[in-house]
Amino acid sequence: MHAAPPSTGRTSRPTLTPPACIAVISLSDARRVNTYSTATSTAIGNVTATMKGTERRNTSTITGQLFRDLIDEHQRGEGRQGGAERREMLAQQVAAKGAHDRCRHYIRNSKCQQGMRRAPRPVTAPSAPPTPRPGAGCGRREAPNTLSTTIAPSPLRRVAACVALALACTARGRASRPHEFDGTRAFSYLERQMQFGPRIPGTPAHERMGDWLLERLRATADTVVVQPITHVTRQGQTLHLRNFLARFRPTAPERVLLLAHWDTRPHADQSANLGQQRLPVPGANDGASGVAVLLGVADALKGHPPALGVDLLFDDGEDFGNFATDSDDVLIGSRYFAAHQPTGYPPLFAVLFDMIGKKNLQIYYEGYSEAVAPEVVDRVWRTAADLGYGGIFLRGVKHTLIDDHVALQKAGIHAIDVVDFDYPYWHTTEDTIDKVAAASLQVVGDVAVALVR
Ligand SMILES: [Zn+2]
Repeated sequence: MHAAPPSTGRTSRPTLTPPACIAVISLSDARRVNTYSTATSTAIGNVTATMKGTERRNTSTITGQLFRDLIDEHQRGEGRQGGAERREMLAQQVAAKGAHDRCRHYIRNSKCQQGMRRAPRPVTAPSAPPTPRPGAGCGRREAPNTLSTTIAPSPLRRVAACVALALACTARGRASRPHEFDGTRAFSYLERQMQFGPRIPGTPAHERMGDWLLERLRATADTVVVQPITHVTRQGQTLHLRNFLARFRPTAPERVLLLAHWDTRPHADQSANLGQQRLPVPGANDGASGVAVLLGVADALKGHPPALGVDLLFDDGEDFGNFATDSDDVLIGSRYFAAHQPTGYPPLFAVLFDMIGKKNLQIYYEGYSEAVAPEVVDRVWRTAADLGYGGIFLRGVKHTLIDDHVALQKAGIHAIDVVDFDYPYWHTTEDTIDKVAAASLQVVGDVAVALVR
């Protein structure tokens, strides 16, 4: 995987950028008001009335803009779900979860924090954040007549309350949901891969890793298809590669494809010095993390078959050559798969998992994913938010990358890349097991499994 040149079609959605947290506060209230539409004008009036001078004017404008955005978003949600009961449930979820996720996102933003520091502290500001009331947020309906008490005069207090709610709701949501995906076990699969050493095509370690992977998949999947590939590199080296396709419910007509590359890069060309650049990349994150998640998904699907057909593709030869000069020697397995798709393809959609194991994971939209398959991006990020991972799956395009999903996109598959490219050890000798965490695999694994339930 490699960063695409800057000129190659980076796209981003129009996003609302509040000047400070004070606007997020309005968003939070507006969302709540959106649920209880009879109180709309009163509530917005109350919010505006608490502001002074330029803050008041800015907030009034932004509140209107945000409110229109929220109505649009809500109406789109209604269109997708259908049915009166479903609409009711969705409205509550949007009101609570949307506010929490958006607030958590903006709190990370330094601009937002500057805004917080600039905001005057009212005399009546409490010294500690208020305790969330039982029933507030987390999708539960709050009585309309409590609305006025939720519009506090202090921006700081409101942000603190939002943080407390977000944390409480996240903890409650996770605690009540059993994990089908076992992050600890997935991490053991990552450790096992590292024990082989670098999995470079053409080496015994690569061969042994492939044999182990095939054995694991035969123990879990309904069917395993092996695609042997013979590839001659630009330098004249003949590589024997293998794609492994693990299929669950192989005769189901509607299918989803999840994929990851299992090879590792021969040279750490992003390392600091020439000596290190000749060494291989250990591939704890770039290679092993995606495979570990897919193996964990395979365990979950063996225990509980999916609602539709699922294919797990472990592709080979993703990272062998130079992305800038030897384009035939990268994405080898995914390009082969794109040219030799199983009968019944294309799938409904495909999701690539690459470099998703690092500690403190933050996953933004990837540029080509958003450009070609925005509906898949929406689906994955919405699934993550529903699981309480809105603070990890963050909205907006940050990087545009040449990765296996591009090979599938060129063949007409609606494929996206789930990747955290803000990884300083990418393509260095420092991509080692101490940089990755079972907790990150757990998050991504939960999302992956939920996508096929
Ligand atoms: Zn790579």
